[in-house]
Amino acid sequence: GGDGLADIGITGLAVMGSNLARNFARHGYTVALHNRTKAKTDALMEEHGEEGMFVPAATAEEFVASLARPRRLMIMVKAGGPTDAVIEEFAPLLEPGDMIIDGGNAHFEDTRRRERELREKGIHFVGAGISGGEEGALNGPSIMPGGSKESAAALGPMLEAISAKAKDGAPCTTHIGPDGAGHFVKMVHNGIEYADMQLIAEAYHLLRAVAGYEPREIAEIFRTWNTGRLDSYLIEITAEVLAHTDAETGRPFVDVVADMAEQKGTGRWTVQIALDLGVPVSGIAEAVFARALSGHADLRAASRHLAGPDAGTERASGAGPDAAAFADQVEQALYASKIVSYTQGFHQIQAGSDTYGWNIDLGRIAAIWRGGCIIRAAFLDRITAAYDARSDLPSLLSDQRFAEEIGAAQDDWRAVVVAAVRHGVPVPGFSAALAYYDALRADRLPAALTQGQRDFFGAHTYRRTDRDGVFHTLWGGDR
Ligand code: NAP
Repeated sequence: GGDGLADIGITGLAVMGSNLARNFARHGYTVALHNRTKAKTDALMEEHGEEGMFVPAATAEEFVASLARPRRLMIMVKAGGPTDAVIEEFAPLLEPGDMIIDGGNAHFEDTRRRERELREKGIHFVGAGISGGEEGALNGPSIMPGGSKESAAALGPMLEAISAKAKDGAPCTTHIGPDGAGHFVKMVHNGIEYADMQLIAEAYHLLRAVAGYEPREIAEIFRTWNTGRLDSYLIEITAEVLAHTDAETGRPFVDVVADMAEQKGTGRWTVQIALDLGVPVSGIAEAVFARALSGHADLRAASRHLAGPDAGTERASGAGPDAAAFADQVEQALYASKIVSYTQGFHQIQAGSDTYGWNIDLGRIAAIWRGGCIIRAAFLDRITAAYDARSDLPSLLSDQRFAEEIGAAQDDWRAVVVAAVRHGVPVPGFSAALAYYDALRADRLPAALTQGQRDFFGAHTYRRTDRDGVFHTLWGGDR
């Protein structure tokens, strides 16, 4: 502002906080800066202080005093205990009507608690999921804020200014809903990201182990896919990674990297919450488990001797006409499995929205993921279109267009899963997605038998197809 007071303040100036501060400043906002260790504030001022209007503060009091009212204070510190510590430090210095925005990767239950506690003091607490990593923070992330309507109105224009823009120019941010809605949606975003990455990894594994392609050739295949319906950031960077040669050894980069995938925890949270909500996010769960399995080096070493399929079936053909046809089938399988993992992820968001009363607009979620974030993809336009056509769509698979596409892909999808099984290539993502699809399609599920077993050993009762009511059979007693 013209009064020298800052439009927004950021505390926590590691890579994310610094880049968001610079992003706000580039859009004409005056940004107050604070960090527990002042050296980071000084370093930011030294390196980028001339990029815009910054107000560095040495102490919490100085920081709060530099903010225009109602104050907008953004926290970008390590998620968990540090976030609570910072809130405890600043909340007593704030007044009713002020806003605290937590842009860290908080668990949505923590966000619900913090929002409740601060609301009692009249302070708006906004839990904002931010996707896009450090590059996104600087040049435009996808932002998923949750909180009160008042805070959404006061912050919306600023967040729209710094957010990524989709190809049609729309800002990649929207008010998701009350309290923890934003962090919940960010969590599911990350879960979907895990599933997308797993499916791409399986496609690569099949192209290599079954079709016999080399990494450079697979990079080309991914580049071609990226010009079609699979057009997405993750497919694009996959091609880059596969085309990369290790400078030291001259070997494909992917062959010199240890094959043990790590994780920070948001994928695991997604699955834990899905279990609580009873939502079958099998694709995300398989992706989390696949990373866990890869990390069990001792278990894998102790299992190398286990029998596999005949050596003769281990490679189908080597690259050739059959390999090219197989690659086309893998594209179908990948696309079909991707539809399923988004179906599952959106089901989880719907279930969270119903459980917590968030009233989330699912079509808008797909729209704000079109830019800035890791799962940005042309595909998301189709999801938005599906919810535009019918806002109470029970499932993405009920959308006619998705149903047609997955129906057209299913023969190839099955062929790919069969080939994977025959060649001993693990495809937990592809096969879990197919199992979900077939289970939803099924006329009758063996759940009827499960109910019989439950009634037998635990008198858990069952329902009947031909009559209303709850029934129990006197098992064995009258035998
Ligand atoms: P980070 O490494 O997660 O956290 C470092 C920052 O936290 C430093 O400013 C540090 O201050 C501060 N901090 C730690 N403990 C503190 C405490 N007890 N009291 C006050 N300050 C404390 O930084 P980051 O990678 O920039 O991430 C910031 C947040 O954004 C995290 O919640 C992260 O999960 C989230 N996020 C990160 C990414 C990403 O790609 N990195 C993407 C989206 C969201 P000192 O300098 O004094 O140590």
